[in-house]
Amino acid sequence: MTAAQEFLKANEAYAATFQKGDLPMPPARHVAVLTCMDARLHPARFLGLQEGDAHVICNAGGRASEDALRSLIISEQLLGTTEIVVIHHTDCGMLTFSNEDLRTRLQREFTADASGIDFLPFSNLEQSVRDDIATIKASPFIPDNITVSGFLYDVKSGRLLPVT
Ligand code: ZN
Repeated sequence: MTAAQEFLKANEAYAATFQKGDLPMPPARHVAVLTCMDARLHPARFLGLQEGDAHVICNAGGRASEDALRSLIISEQLLGTTEIVVIHHTDCGMLTFSNEDLRTRLQREFTADASGIDFLPFSNLEQSVRDDIATIKASPFIPDNITVSGFLYDVKSGRLLPVT
Protein backbone atom coordinates (compact mmCIF):
# COMPACT_ATOMS: atom_id res chain seq x y z
CA MET A 1 0.00 0.00 0.00
CA THR A 2 1.30 3.48 -0.83
CA ALA A 3 1.28 6.20 1.79
CA ALA A 4 -1.54 7.89 -0.11
CA GLN A 5 -3.65 4.75 0.10
CA GLU A 6 -2.91 4.46 3.80
CA PHE A 7 -3.98 8.07 4.24
CA LEU A 8 -7.32 7.38 2.62
CA LYS A 9 -7.90 4.53 5.00
CA ALA A 10 -6.94 6.55 8.07
CA ASN A 11 -9.07 9.44 6.86
CA GLU A 12 -12.14 7.25 6.68
CA ALA A 13 -11.84 6.64 10.41
CA TYR A 14 -11.26 10.35 11.06
CA ALA A 15 -14.25 11.47 9.00
CA ALA A 16 -16.50 8.83 10.54
CA THR A 17 -16.60 10.71 13.86
CA PHE A 18 -15.85 14.22 12.51
CA GLN A 19 -17.90 16.96 14.18
CA LYS A 20 -15.99 20.14 13.38
CA GLY A 21 -17.51 21.06 10.05
CA ASP A 22 -18.79 24.44 11.23
CA LEU A 23 -15.55 26.07 12.34
CA PRO A 24 -14.96 29.64 11.16
CA MET A 25 -12.04 30.27 8.79
CA PRO A 26 -10.10 32.74 11.04
CA PRO A 27 -7.99 30.96 13.68
CA ALA A 28 -9.79 30.98 17.05
CA ARG A 29 -6.57 31.69 18.95
CA HIS A 30 -5.44 34.45 16.59
CA VAL A 31 -1.98 33.01 16.20
CA ALA A 32 0.28 31.86 13.37
CA VAL A 33 3.07 29.37 14.06
CA LEU A 34 6.10 29.12 11.78
CA THR A 35 8.02 25.91 12.27
CA CYS A 36 10.10 23.19 10.64
CA MET A 37 8.67 20.41 8.51
CA ASP A 38 10.75 17.87 10.47
CA ALA A 39 8.76 14.65 10.82
CA ARG A 40 9.45 14.48 14.56
CA LEU A 41 7.60 17.74 15.19
CA HIS A 42 3.87 17.54 15.75
CA PRO A 43 3.00 21.18 16.52
CA ALA A 44 -0.69 20.52 17.14
CA ARG A 45 0.24 18.05 19.85
CA PHE A 46 3.14 19.84 21.49
CA LEU A 47 1.29 23.18 21.48
CA GLY A 48 -2.12 21.88 22.46
CA LEU A 49 -3.84 22.99 19.26
CA GLN A 50 -7.19 21.78 17.99
CA GLU A 51 -8.73 22.14 14.55
CA GLY A 52 -9.55 25.80 13.95
CA ASP A 53 -7.09 27.16 16.53
CA ALA A 54 -4.07 28.40 14.59
CA HIS A 55 -2.25 28.74 11.31
CA VAL A 56 0.72 26.38 11.25
CA ILE A 57 3.21 27.14 8.49
CA CYS A 58 5.87 24.48 7.99
CA ASN A 59 8.92 24.57 5.76
CA ALA A 60 12.50 23.29 5.89
CA GLY A 61 13.91 24.86 9.04
CA GLY A 62 10.83 26.93 9.90
CA ARG A 63 12.54 29.82 8.15
CA ALA A 64 11.00 33.21 7.46
CA SER A 65 11.41 32.73 3.73
CA GLU A 66 9.63 34.80 1.12
CA ASP A 67 6.83 32.25 0.96
CA ALA A 68 6.51 32.04 4.74
CA LEU A 69 6.15 35.83 4.82
CA ARG A 70 3.49 35.59 2.12
CA SER A 71 1.51 33.24 4.35
CA LEU A 72 2.08 35.34 7.48
CA ILE A 73 0.88 38.50 5.76
CA ILE A 74 -2.27 36.74 4.60
CA SER A 75 -2.73 35.32 8.10
CA GLU A 76 -2.48 38.74 9.75
CA GLN A 77 -4.25 40.88 7.18
CA LEU A 78 -7.04 38.65 5.99
CA LEU A 79 -7.57 36.17 8.80
CA GLY A 80 -7.12 38.23 11.92
CA THR A 81 -4.09 36.72 13.61
CA THR A 82 -2.24 39.08 15.95
CA GLU A 83 0.61 36.92 17.16
CA ILE A 84 3.41 34.98 15.46
CA VAL A 85 5.45 32.21 17.08
CA VAL A 86 8.65 30.95 15.41
CA ILE A 87 9.76 27.46 16.47
CA HIS A 88 13.02 25.85 15.36
CA HIS A 89 14.30 22.62 16.92
CA THR A 90 17.34 20.69 18.09
CA ASP A 91 18.97 18.26 15.64
CA CYS A 92 17.50 20.16 12.67
CA GLY A 93 18.59 18.97 9.24
CA MET A 94 19.28 22.58 8.31
CA LEU A 95 22.37 22.43 10.56
CA THR A 96 23.89 19.68 8.41
CA PHE A 97 24.63 21.33 5.07
CA SER A 98 25.61 24.59 3.43
CA ASN A 99 24.15 26.28 0.38
CA GLU A 100 27.37 25.42 -1.40
CA ASP A 101 27.08 21.69 -0.50
CA LEU A 102 23.57 21.38 -1.85
CA ARG A 103 24.19 23.51 -4.94
CA THR A 104 27.22 21.38 -5.83
CA ARG A 105 25.22 18.19 -5.38
CA LEU A 106 22.38 19.49 -7.54
CA GLN A 107 24.80 20.64 -10.21
CA ARG A 108 26.34 17.17 -10.30
CA GLU A 109 23.06 15.28 -10.31
CA PHE A 110 21.00 17.46 -12.65
CA THR A 111 23.60 19.53 -14.49
CA ALA A 112 21.47 22.54 -13.65
CA ASP A 113 22.49 25.70 -11.82
CA ALA A 114 20.94 26.15 -8.37
CA SER A 115 23.07 29.16 -7.44
CA GLY A 116 19.95 31.32 -7.44
CA ILE A 117 18.34 29.29 -4.65
CA ASP A 118 19.06 30.15 -1.03
CA PHE A 119 18.15 27.00 0.91
CA LEU A 120 18.43 29.00 4.16
CA PRO A 121 20.56 26.53 6.15
CA PHE A 122 22.02 27.72 9.45
CA SER A 123 24.84 26.87 11.85
CA ASN A 124 23.49 28.38 15.07
CA LEU A 125 20.04 27.35 16.24
CA GLU A 126 19.23 30.19 18.60
CA GLN A 127 20.57 32.76 16.18
CA SER A 128 18.45 31.30 13.38
CA VAL A 129 15.33 31.94 15.49
CA ARG A 130 16.47 35.48 16.24
CA ASP A 131 17.22 36.08 12.56
CA ASP A 132 13.76 34.91 11.50
CA ILE A 133 12.05 37.03 14.15
CA ALA A 134 14.05 40.01 12.87
CA THR A 135 13.11 39.23 9.26
CA ILE A 136 9.42 39.06 10.17
CA LYS A 137 9.56 42.27 12.20
CA ALA A 138 11.42 44.03 9.40
CA SER A 139 8.69 43.29 6.88
CA PRO A 140 6.85 46.50 6.02
CA PHE A 141 3.67 44.42 5.81
CA ILE A 142 3.77 43.03 9.35
CA PRO A 143 2.48 45.74 11.70
CA ASP A 144 4.46 46.73 14.81
CA ASN A 145 1.69 45.68 17.18
CA ILE A 146 2.02 42.02 16.18
CA THR A 147 3.72 39.99 18.91
CA VAL A 148 6.54 37.82 17.55
CA SER A 149 8.23 35.32 19.84
CA GLY A 150 10.65 32.44 19.33
CA PHE A 151 11.30 28.99 20.77
CA LEU A 152 13.46 25.94 20.33
CA TYR A 153 11.73 22.58 20.50
CA ASP A 154 13.88 19.84 21.97
CA VAL A 155 13.32 16.65 19.97
CA LYS A 156 14.70 14.55 22.88
CA SER A 157 12.46 15.91 25.65
CA GLY A 158 9.51 17.35 23.70
CA ARG A 159 10.01 20.63 25.56
CA LEU A 160 9.83 24.17 24.23
CA LEU A 161 12.60 26.52 25.30
CA PRO A 162 12.15 30.27 24.85
CA VAL A 163 14.71 32.08 22.68
CA THR A 164 15.40 35.61 23.82
ZN1 ZN B 1 14.23 21.00 11.12
